[in-house]
Amino acid sequence: MTAHEHDIDAVIATARTDCMTTGQRLTEKRENILRILLATPQPISAYDIVEHYRNDYGDSLPAMSVYRMLQFLVDNKLAHKLATTNQFLACSHIACDHEHSVPQFLICDECHRVQEVSLRKELVEELRNSVRKTGFRLASQQLELHGTCDRCEPAK
Ligand SMILES: [Zn+2]
Ligand SMILES: [Zn+2]
Ligand SMILES: [Zn+2]
Repeated sequence: MTAHEHDIDAVIATARTDCMTTGQRLTEKRENILRILLATPQPISAYDIVEHYRNDYGDSLPAMSVYRMLQFLVDNKLAHKLATTNQFLACSHIACDHEHSVPQFLICDECHRVQEVSLRKELVEELRNSVRKTGFRLASQQLELHGTCDRCEPAK
């Protein structure tokens, strides 16, 4: 359990308010998808979501519309997409008051749990500058670090 885990209903209520203040609408289906993500400890693919949706809500959604709804959640920082695995997870900071920073993900290759951590602004800035010097154009600042979590590799 991390400090940022909250009750799902409370998180959904915050997400709904967040969307309203930006003039967006968390429709029932979008909300259901967010609930599925919040209830799943590991990141999952759009196809996993189609299956969960069918089991939980008795509705068969086309993968394309699931992708569109996931994109909505990602755009509104309610969910994140892991580019290295093409999977989705709920943001850990939906119910937080602080500003959302550039997310960094620690991905355990053993149990597939993902921790969302925040890097200091200065560090992100430094990373961006050193990349810029090479002439490389950064499409995303999101970092996805693969390894083994403390549960799978207890401290010696
Ligand atoms: Zn986040
Ligand atoms: Zn937070
Ligand atoms: Zn692990």
